[in-house]
Amino acid sequence: MDNKLLKKAYAPENFRIRGHRLIDELADHLQKQLNDSKSKTLNWQTPEVELEFWKNFLTYSNESELFSQVLKRTTNVHNPKCIGHQVAPTAPITALSALVGGLLNNGMAVYEMGMAPSAIERVVTDFLCSKIGYNSEARGFLTSGGTLANLTALLAARKAKVKIDVWNEGYKESLGIMVSQEAHYCVDRAAKIMGLGEKGIIKIPTNSSYSVDCSRLEEYYKTAKKKGIHIFAIVGSAPSTATGVYDDLATISDFAKKYNLWFHVDGAHGGGAIFSKKYSPLLDGIHQADSVVIDGHKMMMMSAITTALLFKNGHYSHATFSQKADYLLEQSDHEDWYNIAKRTFECTKTMMSVHWFTMLKTYGEAIFDEYVTNLYDLGNIFGAMIANDSDFELAVSPVSNIVCFRIKPKNSTTTSLNQINADIRQYLLEDGEFYIVQTKLRGQYYMRCTIMNPFTTKNHFKTLLNKIKEAYNVLI
Ligand SMILES: *Cc1c(COP(=O)(O)O)cnc(C)c1O
Repeated sequence: MDNKLLKKAYAPENFRIRGHRLIDELADHLQKQLNDSKSKTLNWQTPEVELEFWKNFLTYSNESELFSQVLKRTTNVHNPKCIGHQVAPTAPITALSALVGGLLNNGMAVYEMGMAPSAIERVVTDFLCSKIGYNSEARGFLTSGGTLANLTALLAARKAKVKIDVWNEGYKESLGIMVSQEAHYCVDRAAKIMGLGEKGIIKIPTNSSYSVDCSRLEEYYKTAKKKGIHIFAIVGSAPSTATGVYDDLATISDFAKKYNLWFHVDGAHGGGAIFSKKYSPLLDGIHQADSVVIDGHKMMMMSAITTALLFKNGHYSHATFSQKADYLLEQSDHEDWYNIAKRTFECTKTMMSVHWFTMLKTYGEAIFDEYVTNLYDLGNIFGAMIANDSDFELAVSPVSNIVCFRIKPKNSTTTSLNQINADIRQYLLEDGEFYIVQTKLRGQYYMRCTIMNPFTTKNHFKTLLNKIKEAYNVLI
């Protein structure tokens, strides 16, 4: 074989030419999304139409069109009217760090397959630990997403708090965790993967402001205990995904201490508020948590996917996947922090630490303060606008950048309200100017916005609310 294709694929000059062209295209895209008020957040197609397009593309279209078609047919997270899900409009520099990792492809599992990114990961996670208020015993690592990080934290919790070595011997008793009814579904999934079953997930109801009702923790704990369930962990949401409301971490922490439970904080969305001088009080008590999750690709502005999992006691970050039950006893002065796959679920993982380090080195931690503070302020501003408009109703007064609301004109009935709000949200999706999402809270249908773009303004909110009223009049 003459390896013609391989030579073409690896030719540095081809990479250079295409790379320059692509960066130009991406910069133009960014410019348009941020500044052109007419650009849409998405050009809606049904899944079937989209599937047909790409099937045909593979056979008939010009390869030089590929990246530009992807740009045209995706959701524009940098558009200030894109206020739907929680993924960040990436700080563009993390697209560059993603490019570096994409080419170098260091596998990260062992130190020698990623010397710089492994050491950088230690620097970054040590820094995050200190921001949380942990002492020098704390350690962390980065992993692929909040979902995986929550599962890993609960596995660590089980290892730490359950005397029987479940990892090696399987279950000999019923185990359980306590968590808010409003927690992200991935906590439920993690518990199911761990084999705790439905009965092992003790769901605590929320109070009128959708944060976990701490006055009921004792009652639920005791009822579970009576049923023979050994509870080993409790999870606090910071905040809960649907409503953006933070649980009372300090009170949960006291409760966890009283019953010797592992206290885990799911700060996938809002753990980054530790950087906000104004909003960090929402996280009061977080330094007491045994483990904390913070997503880089949500409120830390990074390219997906990268999540920090941080442990108050670093030993536990080593113990989760260790085969030996007595690992902790063997722990010596020599901790090999640099062979990261011993501690993570992944074997190969991306060089994700480079995103965090690049942000810190380029802009300093102040950028995270600016970002979180701006967005949470915008959440409050939007919340106040909705509260002051008699055609709308908030599910709960927003405390972060997540806002749930619905249109509720005076003469409507509850059942038709759910339908009309769902219809309006679909209307907006197909219209494509704004992108917002939806959620169901206590049986009621709400439109849900997550303000992720710091350049979204009050005027955008005004236009959106007017557009919703228009849609109501069209659809009713
Ligand atoms: C987004 C989110 C998750 C899941 O994180 P991924 O990074 O999407 O896997 C978990 N918990 C909360 C509270 C979240 O907001």
